[in-house]
Amino acid sequence: MLSSPGREARMPGSVTDFSLVPGWAGPLFTAFLLVLGLCIGSFLNVVIARVPEGLSIVRPGSRCPRCGHVLSWYENIPVLSWLALRARCRSCHAPISPRYVLVELLTGLLFLACLRRFGWTYELFPALVLVSLLIPLTFIDLAHWILPFSLTVPGIAAGLVLAVPRGADAVVDATLGAVIGFLAFRLMEYVGWKVFRKEALGGGDKFLVALLGAFLSWRALLGILFLSSLQGAVVGIAMLGLTGRAGPSTPPDAKPVKTPEGVAPPPPEASGVTPPEEGAAPAPAHPPGDERVTPHEGAAPPAIPLGDAPPVGVGATAAGAANTEESEPESTMTWEFTRPGIPLWKRALLVPWCLLFQPIPDAPMDDETGEEEEWVPGPTNIPFGPWLALAGLEVMLLGPWLARVLPMDIAMLLGGAP
Ligand SMILES: [Zn+2]
Repeated sequence: MLSSPGREARMPGSVTDFSLVPGWAGPLFTAFLLVLGLCIGSFLNVVIARVPEGLSIVRPGSRCPRCGHVLSWYENIPVLSWLALRARCRSCHAPISPRYVLVELLTGLLFLACLRRFGWTYELFPALVLVSLLIPLTFIDLAHWILPFSLTVPGIAAGLVLAVPRGADAVVDATLGAVIGFLAFRLMEYVGWKVFRKEALGGGDKFLVALLGAFLSWRALLGILFLSSLQGAVVGIAMLGLTGRAGPSTPPDAKPVKTPEGVAPPPPEASGVTPPEEGAAPAPAHPPGDERVTPHEGAAPPAIPLGDAPPVGVGATAAGAANTEESEPESTMTWEFTRPGIPLWKRALLVPWCLLFQPIPDAPMDDETGEEEEWVPGPTNIPFGPWLALAGLEVMLLGPWLARVLPMDIAMLLGGAP
């Protein structure tokens, strides 16, 4: 964990500096990496479309979302098929979103950027995995304002495992990165809620920060926080000046106004603040699809500010029973572990759940009227997840370059140098 000369030129803890590919084979392998990136980008399109809906990413095969026409292999070739089909379904001629080709090209180009940064070393592999996680998380957060646990939690695990070949120090750094990132954002989430009386950060953001910390070590966290806040603020202000609003004023698939629970019956899936059923294990890895109603079923999902992830501990059963069980609106944090008469082991389990994973309530009770303030997405609401992802990529891919061009103090901040 000590700094050494030249450290800033590598990933923290990097030990594999030699190239695994002989020079003469370089162009061939580079072309292969680009094609691999395009193909993985094609798969990430499936992840982006299906994971928020809670659908399988394996079956069925790709099909036209409008007419259900099953794509044959030659309609499924990244970029080329989209061009050959002139961005239209071959069967019903419905336009195919340019997002598909954008995700494919972005993945391919970021794969090449990773190669340029790390060469054919071991460090290339975790970098490619991180890119393949950040792209779907970004596009899902932009479209649905959630960061699904089914991507972030396995992602954190992958970051920790991929640190193992770098040695024990790197594993410690990655673990610290995940833990510190998570705790810092949990604390900010709590303080933001206490001070500003509203949900300032989405519940899923802390898992994304933990993921970035696991891949890029704790050293990168301060720089990521700095870059994401700075760029988010600059773009937000610029868009506010140009268009009058900083982002989609309502999440595209979300209900604009959340009815205060208790006043009107909430939709079943709006049980975002249901406390876990007694004895329910703290399970952050809850699949997001369980409690979300897909748009074509008619009901709009609740407005989820700032890239929130589905609440912890709310399963399909809890969501279904929400209307009957949840007579009291849950607008404060509950400290279940202080309740008398709980077995000690259950108390021990409840302490970390309450402190770390309990969803931050949307709006605290108004002290005077006893009514919950309505949360309406304001004009400056924009999910924070994409900014975190962008900052993570910048620190990973441009770290040494930033260290050279920036003033020493800022470079130290970004590099996390001690
Ligand atoms: Zn079609």
